[in-house]
Amino acid sequence: MNHMKTYKDEDGCKVRMAMQQEMEAITKSVMTCTRCELYKTRTHAVAGEGTITSPLLFIGEAPGHHEDMQGKPFVGKAGNILDELLASIGLNRHDIYITNILKCRPPQNRNPLKSEISACSIYLEKQLECIQPKILVPLGNFATAYLFEKFGLHFTRISDVCGKLYRVTTLSGTTTIAPLYHPAVVTYDSSKKAQLLKDMEALKSALP
Ligand code: SF4
Repeated sequence: MNHMKTYKDEDGCKVRMAMQQEMEAITKSVMTCTRCELYKTRTHAVAGEGTITSPLLFIGEAPGHHEDMQGKPFVGKAGNILDELLASIGLNRHDIYITNILKCRPPQNRNPLKSEISACSIYLEKQLECIQPKILVPLGNFATAYLFEKFGLHFTRISDVCGKLYRVTTLSGTTTIAPLYHPAVVTYDSSKKAQLLKDMEALKSALP
């Protein structure tokens, strides 16, 4: 990350250490969580990964098979596509923090249930509080719908909002929401890759 400065650099090492401790506590809670039924079928819970002082927080839907096996977010085909998208604007995984709405894999990768999102959102909310990102990048319908509802924005479907920037007010100031299609969409509709690459340019324009 050459051109993009972590916005908390000036806060110094103590703040970063406190953030690190907070994130470790969140991760520990996720690992042993039994708040919804998904704990019964998971191999590993996947709390998130990346640079907590980054201004960029990417939010996917839920771990898939590979993520569940390895305990890491976005490690399968969708992860490779995400890496390509990041590289298209000069970024890599170290430049972002990435997590999901649900921290455990739904069986057969089915859609998250409302009750599961409701049970699990406590962790995403804590991560938001800890990281205080300047740019939120929801990937796909579920993450985008969650953030739009949280910030009182009208959501219809991802195809109507991807590639656009939405400015919202948070406790830490102004935050930009930059929705994207979920990278996994490319694995069954290759035409979406061009759209994603185009939408990454919109995201790039919002970088600090
Ligand atoms: S999905 Fe979330 S709420 Fe459900 S068991 Fe996993 S960590 Fe807990």
